[in-house]
Amino acid sequence: MSRVYNFSAGPAALPEEVLRQAAEEMLEWRDAGCGVMEMSHRGRHFTSIIERAEADLRALLALPREYKVLFLQGGGTQQFSQVPMNLLAGGSADYLVTGAWSQKAFDIASALAPNMNGAVRLAVSTAESGFRRLPRSDEYTLNPRAAYVHLCTNETIHGVEFMSPEQLPDTAAPLVADMSSHILSRPMEVSRFGMIYAGAQKNIGPSGLAVVIVREDLLDRAWSGTPALMKYRAMADSGSMLNTPPTYSIYIAGLVFQWLLREGGLAEMETRNAAKAKQLYDCIDGSDFYRNEIDPASRSRMNIPFLLADAALEADFLAGAERAGLLQLKGHKSVGGLRASIYNAMPPEGVAALVDYMREFARTRG
Ligand code: PMP
Repeated sequence: MSRVYNFSAGPAALPEEVLRQAAEEMLEWRDAGCGVMEMSHRGRHFTSIIERAEADLRALLALPREYKVLFLQGGGTQQFSQVPMNLLAGGSADYLVTGAWSQKAFDIASALAPNMNGAVRLAVSTAESGFRRLPRSDEYTLNPRAAYVHLCTNETIHGVEFMSPEQLPDTAAPLVADMSSHILSRPMEVSRFGMIYAGAQKNIGPSGLAVVIVREDLLDRAWSGTPALMKYRAMADSGSMLNTPPTYSIYIAGLVFQWLLREGGLAEMETRNAAKAKQLYDCIDGSDFYRNEIDPASRSRMNIPFLLADAALEADFLAGAERAGLLQLKGHKSVGGLRASIYNAMPPEGVAALVDYMREFARTRG
């Protein structure tokens, strides 16, 4: 077997230990007589799996009691609709658009809002900068009576991240954050947010699963036309089991949470992720051959897009990288260029191997 370093933005590399444990438990989970995929979601075995997963996630994030954890389906994208259905009612929501994903969330909410007699307002967009920086707080004003203020705290495609608490919008309205591509990469001050959601396929587990963390007081604001399966209240009251949940995905997410706790939790992840990102940005910034065009104060630690001085060399760069066991470095098709996604499961050795390859490529082709 030759596992390579996989820099995919998602579905992304998972910790090898997690995959090995899942392989060992594939045919029989403990003494259950069957594997996790085959067991009843209402039986005692799966109940213990989902309860442990939630407890471990709570421990990792130091979640206050008033936040509910939901394991939902439909990935991150489903939340672009579910958020307005559950939180907008007849009110108005403010959206910050800082890249492709918050743009998508804004577009979907805008299309839905009239059906609910609600309104969606573009508070600010950094599109004019090519989404290369976060907005400054003096560039926008927020409606303090907004039903919620939506933002994407890490833009997977453009590589901008809200890093410090001061960069977050200052508002009395509930903040709703799409954290799909950096949740669990460092400690997060959850109490700043009314709701957090994340598609799982980067730092949590398999695609299709979404983790939603929502404050209790926001559970009862759903638009009357919301189907039961889409209602946070109904999902919270049923322990995410209004229907059959994605059991295997929840199990893998639980193994990832256990791995994170064993590794030292989110403070340790932050130390590692900061070091990995610094190594890669230092390599890019220290060379005329590579460049990252994101404002340094807005740069993501998880998704690092970069360009070659000569774009014609991209295909050679990617082919050589693949031969060196460094996969999925092509940038998103909407922006081109290259991108390295370095989530929790990317070991420091993977980033070191990428940096070695980049230096050698620049030396021989620059
Ligand atoms: N939000 C962000 C920040 C993402 O990166 C993605 C997927 N890359 C999504 C939402 C959409 O997630 P999904 O494909 O699971 O619907």
